[in-house]
Amino acid sequence: MTNNEDKLKKIISHAKEYGFVFQSSEIYDGLSAVYDYAQNGVELKRNIREQWWKAMVQMNENIVGIDSAIFMHPTIWKASGHVDAFNDPMIDNKDSKKRYRADVLVEEYLAKIEAKIDKEVEKAKGRFGESFDEEQFLNTNARVLEYKEKMSAISKRLFGSLEKNDLADVKSLIEELEIACPISGSKNWTEVKQFNLMFATQIGSTAEGASEIYLRPETAQGIFVNYLNVQKTGRMKIPFGIAQTGKAFRNEIVARQFIFRMREFEQMEMQFFVRPGEEMKWYEYWKAERMKWHLSLGMEAKNYRFHDHEKLAHYANAAADIEFNFPMGFKELEGIHSRTDFDLKAHEEYTGKKLRYFDPELNESYVPYVVETSIGLDRMFLAVMSTAYNEEKLEDGSERVVLNLPPALAPYKVAVLPLMKKDGLPEKAREIMADLQEDFMCQYEEKDAIGKRYRRQDAIGTPFCITIDHESLTDNSVTIRYRDSMKQERIAVADLKQLIVGKLKQKM
Ligand code: ATP
Repeated sequence: MTNNEDKLKKIISHAKEYGFVFQSSEIYDGLSAVYDYAQNGVELKRNIREQWWKAMVQMNENIVGIDSAIFMHPTIWKASGHVDAFNDPMIDNKDSKKRYRADVLVEEYLAKIEAKIDKEVEKAKGRFGESFDEEQFLNTNARVLEYKEKMSAISKRLFGSLEKNDLADVKSLIEELEIACPISGSKNWTEVKQFNLMFATQIGSTAEGASEIYLRPETAQGIFVNYLNVQKTGRMKIPFGIAQTGKAFRNEIVARQFIFRMREFEQMEMQFFVRPGEEMKWYEYWKAERMKWHLSLGMEAKNYRFHDHEKLAHYANAAADIEFNFPMGFKELEGIHSRTDFDLKAHEEYTGKKLRYFDPELNESYVPYVVETSIGLDRMFLAVMSTAYNEEKLEDGSERVVLNLPPALAPYKVAVLPLMKKDGLPEKAREIMADLQEDFMCQYEEKDAIGKRYRRQDAIGTPFCITIDHESLTDNSVTIRYRDSMKQERIAVADLKQLIVGKLKQKM
């Protein structure tokens, strides 16, 4: 097992053991790719959502929020292109009976070639030492160039065939590359078929009267169909944005890797309506802004990179992913898409209603262009957890597991701990707790030795532990212990709130 797989396993088991994420329907042996957030997870998730809402809505006068319904008129998904084009190419291995995304099989093959390039770089670094110029090496080394050429030929063919919907060629490519099923090891594949990812169900009670509707596969369409309502009632002037967070559903073909790919998940999306022709400026703007948001949370820049799309979705004229270095490697965390006027125009066509904006400066009406930012809340949760999870060796030789969460994201900010369960210490602690609770999520614990209680708080990422001892009763002071440094200091109860508020603003 590689270290990375090991890390993902550790995060999954920590998330379960400490009440962050449970498998859905666990007592019925679980439901694949569906998860429940537990008592600590729900708080972490809420805090990430709030940080997003603050950055997008609270801090931007020209962005407002909505909360549209999951069920929508079924024709919306026809207009948006999802009924016809929201497909993934799937392929089954006849021996293992396992189903794969055909494009992902090829992409994994490409990742293996990329790993070979990385290996060449490492070897060369060792050989040349100080004088090594990585960029020059990548551009001139014969073997690297050969790998790169191979990669580009393969991805060109894959994207070309997908574009033309030439699924037979996608299968030929898999065969030519001799890609084997990771489970059975066999190359005995079925044909490649398109598989629509939307969940359908019936609305209405009688068989005759019922009609088929979909669980929304993205939150964005709820914003598009409300665009004019919000623009008019909010008297919004272009450029302006509409933001929303909420559940989305996709019947993913391959659902592995914990909360990275789920069948029911939560999105945080913002559609920014701009003048036609100005979309590229705003696209660049939002790419930069969104990256800033990630870093402002205290996430490390080295774990992020942009990936510009070669194959664009049916609605986009430019698209980039913000990729994060998950325990499984760099993968999409957020998408920034320039969606043109595709969606609003389609809704105009299907409804026969005008979705135009009258621009007083230009003295003309037009269908706005849209730049969207779309991030999966669950993926962000996993990114935060995998950064925060640390196993530390302490000076005394012992070990601790700690979640070094940015304080603003931690489920509980403060733990209130009376040193002993007697002599009036619990009463004093309760008094402090009641006061702090007004402002912060607090936990009260009096069971077990203080060291054990500190460890439990470390494991759920509580940044501050307040300990009440006998001295507290006479001088109204307590000990505050910091999670990351484990340093302790004495502080007057009267100064606690201000100190915590200040520290909560700090980064990881
Ligand atoms: P992928 O290529 O990984 O399937 P996507 O390109 O289909 O993702 P988008 O349609 O751009 O994803 O959705 C926007 C965001 O929603 C993604 O960046 C991701 O964070 C999140 N997301 C999409 N699908 C899932 C899923 N099945 N589980 C969890 N999050 C998801």
